[in-house]
Amino acid sequence: MKMERTLSIIKPNAALDNNIGNIVKRFEGENLRIAAMKLTVLSKEKAEGFYIEHKERPFFGELVSFMTSGPVVLIVLEGENAVEKNREIMGATNPAEAAENTLRKLYAKSIGENAVHGSDSLASADREINYFFDKNEVFSRF
Ligand code: ATP
Ligand code: MG
Repeated sequence: MKMERTLSIIKPNAALDNNIGNIVKRFEGENLRIAAMKLTVLSKEKAEGFYIEHKERPFFGELVSFMTSGPVVLIVLEGENAVEKNREIMGATNPAEAAENTLRKLYAKSIGENAVHGSDSLASADREINYFFDKNEVFSRF
């Protein structure tokens, strides 16, 4: 078994639409265990640091402004093949291209307000989890 941890973020549009429970239920239903979770509001500095790889992209300002516009839920998911499995459950970045029943098909409003974030590799997952959580806040079973 390839046990992994990955970072999910429930973005402000999904949190404000009362879809936190639906999204958490979906993760648990797909055997991704919640190893850590907090609801917070990101500062501009924290959001900019998280998305630093997109700093030069034309949508960077819009992305940071959206991510700081409301509550987010930061979640460490743990399970078999968690990074790829979470990406599958999320669907394509653009909800117009997302497969049926993916979280983005169900809950995204647009390519910007696309409901969830998920780490795109094990290396990103490690960086992103450490960016938001202290080691002692994550309960790992492996
Ligand atoms: P995420 O990193 O949020 O899980 P992703 O890996 O599918 O999404 P990235 O290419 O990493 O997509 O882009 C990061 C985020 O930037 C996207 O989730 C989306 O919210 C936003 N974004 C990407 N492309 C655009 C765009 N063309 N216009 C506006 N926002 C965009
Ligand atoms: Mg990404």
